[in-house]
Amino acid sequence: MPLIALVALFVAFWSPVSPAPGGVPGPGGADALGRALLAMTAVATVGSISALVGGLMARRVARAGPTLEDRRRLARASLGLEVLAVVAFGLVVHLGRWPEAVAVGMGLSGWTIAEEAVVLLPFLLMLLAAWSGLYQADRVLKASGMRGVKHSWLAGYLVFKARQALGLVLPVAVLFAVVQDLQGWISPGGDPAAWVSLALYAGLGATILVLSPAFVRLSWPARPMPPGPLRDRLERLARRFGFRYTDILVWDTGGGLVNAGVTGATPWFRYVLLTDAMVENLSPREIEAVFGHEVGHVAHRHLAYFGLFFLGTMGVMSLLTSGIDRFLAIGSPIWAWGRDPTVELVVQGAAALGFGAAYFLLIFGYLSRRFERQADVFGCRVVSCGRGGCPPHPDVNALPGPGPAVPETLCPVGIGIFIEALSSVAMLNGMEPRARSWRHGSIARRISFLRGLEGRPEAERRFQARLAGLRLAVGLALTTALLLAVTTGALGRLH
Ligand SMILES: [Zn+2]
Ligand SMILES: [Zn+2]
Repeated sequence: MPLIALVALFVAFWSPVSPAPGGVPGPGGADALGRALLAMTAVATVGSISALVGGLMARRVARAGPTLEDRRRLARASLGLEVLAVVAFGLVVHLGRWPEAVAVGMGLSGWTIAEEAVVLLPFLLMLLAAWSGLYQADRVLKASGMRGVKHSWLAGYLVFKARQALGLVLPVAVLFAVVQDLQGWISPGGDPAAWVSLALYAGLGATILVLSPAFVRLSWPARPMPPGPLRDRLERLARRFGFRYTDILVWDTGGGLVNAGVTGATPWFRYVLLTDAMVENLSPREIEAVFGHEVGHVAHRHLAYFGLFFLGTMGVMSLLTSGIDRFLAIGSPIWAWGRDPTVELVVQGAAALGFGAAYFLLIFGYLSRRFERQADVFGCRVVSCGRGGCPPHPDVNALPGPGPAVPETLCPVGIGIFIEALSSVAMLNGMEPRARSWRHGSIARRISFLRGLEGRPEAERRFQARLAGLRLAVGLALTTALLLAVTTGALGRLH
């Protein structure tokens, strides 16, 4: 879900083309009122569609009783409406020229934070309108026994949804605005040197990675895991693998979700989260395996790598944007769409968005799935005994004292425990084992990969070596792109 809010920020503040010199004159005060009315009409439209969809679903559930399919349908409707909100917001911003109305018509230009808040306001209202429409359906589902956090008031439901959707994104937007203010302060009136921009954005990325645990706590209700045998096991496991963290949290989902996560790039501020339903339904050893998967993300520095990945992506995107400005413009040899500057803007915007989306889906998606596998392997390792020929297999994280050393190879029972945990998670969440997942890959493929490692330590070594090579190659390519972007001046101030 936070992805939707990120896309909306992108829509609002990242114009793929720099404004034409001299530009189109901004609207006057009266015009700003007209544009505000247009924005409100868009909000009302999203709200009406949502009320219609939500009402139909609520009636259906009340008539025929709830099914798992209804829950999926509600989730799909919610996502669909959120996408609709982004599209409507995109129209308001780019066709309705809403940011201009805010900056010029309302005289908020220069008040970065206030300006951005007002620019984003229609999107926030659209989300609230979309969720309000679905509230009744959600309530009927929960009232008739479907699990999940129950809300007896619309306000509570809206706060819950808003925390989920925006808790991660709004703080990032504020930090982003601060960086833009800093840019203006460092070089008033002009663009700062490319390396200054780069340093600012690297600082921004590092700050986000370090502070992310705070944003996660803002988004998701969670409490520290109480002391007891399970916590003892996880703490022993963490000590065995030298993993440091601030706390282990139980994430409150009203029993509706079996999932886990880790957040924070530094050992001093880092949480591991396990949902309430996971703690209730999985066996202690399965929970250890899932916990190990999250430890694996940290041990292999996946978070930090993605931080650098996004920094390098700025280089790629700057090169792309300057390429588009140069070759996909009126008068360039491959231009074939007339002389209308609006058409130029639309074509350039579409090209930038298309390339950007393809890059993100293909490269980020592939890397992300590889990293998930690497974390899976780590999850097997934390419950492995290190004897290729087990059973008998000792309960490694329940043994008193420091426990056994980190095993060199995965053992068959260890792999089996992790696979069992994966299958339980899929089954309890009502997921199809073969359902594809862009970020994680399907459960069935993850399982068959792990089965292939049984008794073949050389297969694991080969996997690790290949992934290390891929990381290095992508890292080098992105560094080159970044250097090119800086030296050619493609990477300037983000407008
Ligand atoms: Zn993972
Ligand atoms: Zn074993």
